[in-house]
Amino acid sequence: MTQKQLQALAKEHGTPLVIIDHAVLRRNYASFRRHLPRVQAYYAVKANPAPEIIQTLYEAGASFDVASMPEFLMVHQYIEALPKKQRQDFIWDKIIYANPIKPRETLEELDQYKPLVTYDNSEELRKIKKHAPQAGLVLRLRVPNTGSIVELSSKFGCDVADAVDLIVEAFEAGLTVEGVSFHVGSQCVNFDNYVQALNIAAAVMTEARSRGHEIKILDIGGGFPVPYDSHVKPFEELAGKINAEIDRLFAKDIEILAEPGRFLVATAATAVSRIIGKAYRDGKKCYYVDDSVYHTFSGIVFDHCQYHMKSFRRGETEICTVFGQTCDGMDAITQSENLPDLDIDDLLYSENIGAYSNASSTWFNGFAPAKVVHVNRD
Ligand SMILES: *Cc1c(COP(=O)(O)O)cnc(C)c1O
Repeated sequence: MTQKQLQALAKEHGTPLVIIDHAVLRRNYASFRRHLPRVQAYYAVKANPAPEIIQTLYEAGASFDVASMPEFLMVHQYIEALPKKQRQDFIWDKIIYANPIKPRETLEELDQYKPLVTYDNSEELRKIKKHAPQAGLVLRLRVPNTGSIVELSSKFGCDVADAVDLIVEAFEAGLTVEGVSFHVGSQCVNFDNYVQALNIAAAVMTEARSRGHEIKILDIGGGFPVPYDSHVKPFEELAGKINAEIDRLFAKDIEILAEPGRFLVATAATAVSRIIGKAYRDGKKCYYVDDSVYHTFSGIVFDHCQYHMKSFRRGETEICTVFGQTCDGMDAITQSENLPDLDIDDLLYSENIGAYSNASSTWFNGFAPAKVVHVNRD
């Protein structure tokens, strides 16, 4: 989006505003498929659950990774409403329920859809057997998360030493393990994590085969990094490594899927906020804007993400602080942004803010989440 377009949209819709560019969504999806041709992309809905995003990615050919009943129903109801010929017959061709821990009620509700669900321990297996016996299973493995910005391996994934026992246990209970999965951690800038995880998954599948169980699906999870700064190596390089390992380790008939969240949506959104206050504190210029870390900038807290605040004005810059609108002292969007001298009512914008951002907005302090507008939908 050009600066002119951003300003025009802010004028039309007011601030705080989040602008989602669907041309970028389609470009990101196409790039993912082009560089990883053997891998079907299951968009991780939690990164940004806007129904408009689901529609655009579905039309581009994506499937979906959901992790709660409301997410499942949102995607399922969208697909159900399509004319029959436009959709796949088996729901799990389009949706994986990838939260390894599911409440009993969710399993009971999911069962009718014969879902594909993940698990990583025996307790969960017993719950699935009792409450969702028609589900197909995917075993989530614990893999190294070294160097990923958001770590997940301390919360999910079975120890590799227990993996094949958990597969055998599932089959002995009369369930079917369709696949194995892993997640290398989000914003994974250490590409070796994928190489190690693929080798671990291949070893588990080989051992399962030797014990009589053929695993058909490999789910390589999410984590594909976004170029928030110039230190992130290009996606092509990561894809090259993944493709080489896939060709080396897995038979041609293994179905491979991934669950990209951030990669598909982060670069598609820009937030525009308005300066509502200006002060000098300890000699430093501070701006206050009409958005906050409780709103669009929640990723600063929950996603370990730092966003840049840019100005539409030119001029000599100095290091400034930008605070959010709430009364919480920790609501600082940045303590060190180079900005020109600005006035009340001037606008600031932040790019690459489509993932784990407005999805976690709250109503804290009485402030509503930013308005979201969608552009270039077709
Ligand atoms: C959050 C999540 C994803 C998406 O991760 P990204 O790093 O955004 O690609 C994928 N799979 C699972 C199981 C998740 O929890």
